[in-house]
Amino acid sequence: MEIARGYEGTKEAFTLRMVRKVEGFFTSRRDLIRTIHWVMFFIFIILLLIPPLLPYPPEEATALNNFTLFANFLFWGLWFPLVLLSTIIFGRAWCGILCPQGALSEYASKKGLGKIPPRWLRWEGTPILSFVFVTILGQLVGVRDYPLPMVEIFGGTMVLALITGLLFTKGHRTWCRYLCPIGLLLGIFSRLGMVNFEGRLVRKGEKGWNTLCPTFIDLSRKQTSRHCIECFKCANWRNPNAMRLSLRRPGQELEGISGYEPSLYEVLFLFGATGLALGAFYWQASPLYIQYKMALGRAFLDLGLGGFIGKSGPWWIMVNYPEAGEVFNYLDLIGISTFMILTMVLALAFLSLITISSTLSLGGSRSRGELFVMLGYIYAPVALISIVTGLGAELFEPLPHGRVLKGILISLGALWSLHLSYRIIKRETGRAKVTPLVLHASGIVALVSAWYRVIV
Ligand code: SF4
Ligand code: SF4
Repeated sequence: MEIARGYEGTKEAFTLRMVRKVEGFFTSRRDLIRTIHWVMFFIFIILLLIPPLLPYPPEEATALNNFTLFANFLFWGLWFPLVLLSTIIFGRAWCGILCPQGALSEYASKKGLGKIPPRWLRWEGTPILSFVFVTILGQLVGVRDYPLPMVEIFGGTMVLALITGLLFTKGHRTWCRYLCPIGLLLGIFSRLGMVNFEGRLVRKGEKGWNTLCPTFIDLSRKQTSRHCIECFKCANWRNPNAMRLSLRRPGQELEGISGYEPSLYEVLFLFGATGLALGAFYWQASPLYIQYKMALGRAFLDLGLGGFIGKSGPWWIMVNYPEAGEVFNYLDLIGISTFMILTMVLALAFLSLITISSTLSLGGSRSRGELFVMLGYIYAPVALISIVTGLGAELFEPLPHGRVLKGILISLGALWSLHLSYRIIKRETGRAKVTPLVLHASGIVALVSAWYRVIV
């Protein structure tokens, strides 16, 4: 929205001028974005490929004097938590401007076969499966602790992004839209973000979505920011009819989610991903997992499979580093993966139950299914902040009062979710109904206390 006459010199006019400057900069400097992509690609390759060639870090080494630990800190202490957190302010700017993987896939597609992505790949559940598989594999191989699994996971996804690019739709990012393990998560959290591209772009003689937007957004009908990677290709600072970069209040899209293409898959993924992430922390820190593993071990012994579960496997399916004193066996492999799937299913069932109960108490003209999807997004802020603080252990722990900071952040995430529940329910019913609010508050408190136990 442009500032109306009479508002010149106000804060709004200043903000709008800044937004237009940013838009003008990125639309006129595409060469710079390309250079950034290649620089990021080479940094990524160095950080990924050098550590496996170096000896295992001695115990007294730190990120300041050891390259392996330095690279590990950049990946897990900075990159992962900050990319997720940045969605609140910058949306998916990481994807469009910085991510080497998505860029490689797009550049490769220009030279590739240009096939249409098959229907199974375009299924909304595909990125969910990709996330679940990569998250569990990452835990089994110790991706946060050892360099070789980093090559396996990040290098592997890079190669798959390249192959996807070479196979499918020229000039597009089939990988980012349908396969990237974190694309869906970034998409949901970008709905909380302050940045959006607005407008309707219909170009004469072509289907805008087919040729212009790398993530297949129909620019003549764009509503939500979930698939927008902020590549600025649809914006043109010289053309007032092009899409425009705009700012909005954080959380605004989710407060009015019914007008922004709500998705059942996204909500189910949000519930399940929270549980899966929790499982990844619980198996490492909770006696619950030890009890589960012992019960599983006894069951295998009763079946006469003691020999099998005691064996260890290759490093690319499970942790196997005798030099670091850590070797998994098949019992660990089965225990960790099933435990994480169980926590995922439990969170999915628990949050679904609360949301269903809430929809039943709401009434109104919408179908129960529509209400369920809208209300499910309430958990996005608390999930985002919990995952960031959980994964960002390397970032928070060296800070003074790091644990207190994590506690404060999670509490803020919970308050944001509570506020979101109030806004969505009030918008839907015209007033703040107590029963659904209490139901969602109990869900949020349960999530927060589950996270507190393992990360604060
Ligand atoms: S969707 Fe994934 S691969 Fe694509 S740009 Fe974003 S993070 Fe990178
Ligand atoms: S909507 Fe525009 S900025 Fe967003 S991904 Fe598509 S072309 Fe890029």
